[in-house]
Amino acid sequence: MSDIGLSSIDEYVEVLSSVAVAIDKADLESARQLLSPIAGQRWHEPFKLAAKSEANDAPSTAKRSVTDRDKAATYIRDGFVCRYCGHRVIPLAVLVGISDVFPDDFAYHTNYKRGEIHPAFWLAPETDHLLAHSRGGRSSIDNLVTLHAMCNLIKSDSYFEDLPLVEHPDLTEEWDGLVPRLPAIAAAGNGEHAGMIHRWTRLFEANSVYNSDHLAND
Ligand SMILES: [Zn+2]
Repeated sequence: MSDIGLSSIDEYVEVLSSVAVAIDKADLESARQLLSPIAGQRWHEPFKLAAKSEANDAPSTAKRSVTDRDKAATYIRDGFVCRYCGHRVIPLAVLVGISDVFPDDFAYHTNYKRGEIHPAFWLAPETDHLLAHSRGGRSSIDNLVTLHAMCNLIKSDSYFEDLPLVEHPDLTEEWDGLVPRLPAIAAAGNGEHAGMIHRWTRLFEANSVYNSDHLAND
């Protein structure tokens, strides 16, 4: 599989959720088996973008001004759900943490190099401005929404207010982005990205996501 369609998102999320739970139980053999349906995949092709124009103007330049702390707060406020497609996101720190546990089966590349990264990394969230910076929109979280990296790319040549927003995703249970599993995932990994994982763990902790009520069902 070289291209993520929206229909694949739930499969990736379900597999990675079960993998994270097994890692949290220190059952790495089960985790490896649970990962097997998507193990070894590599992203090779660009996405099939709808109506992608040549000109990629102002909105992307505003993203640099968003702090990681505001990003974490935005993801938590949005329930780790993409406000563009309504599907669940998995924070990059969680995906990278799983890659540190299974670097061959679930490859990560910092620059998303084609052929060297698992396609599930496009499920990581990013923030986007509701009202573009170029139109006077601010970078406070009131003006930020959670989007998959994939969805952010798809809509990158459109102004967000022209697109439909998902207000109430149809989820059967509360989703925590697997964030409460981060400490166990980090402990099981090879430590290659430990600094980044610990930094995001603290950012999420600061926003009180570490509440037993938010733990996914085992
Ligand atoms: Zn999305």
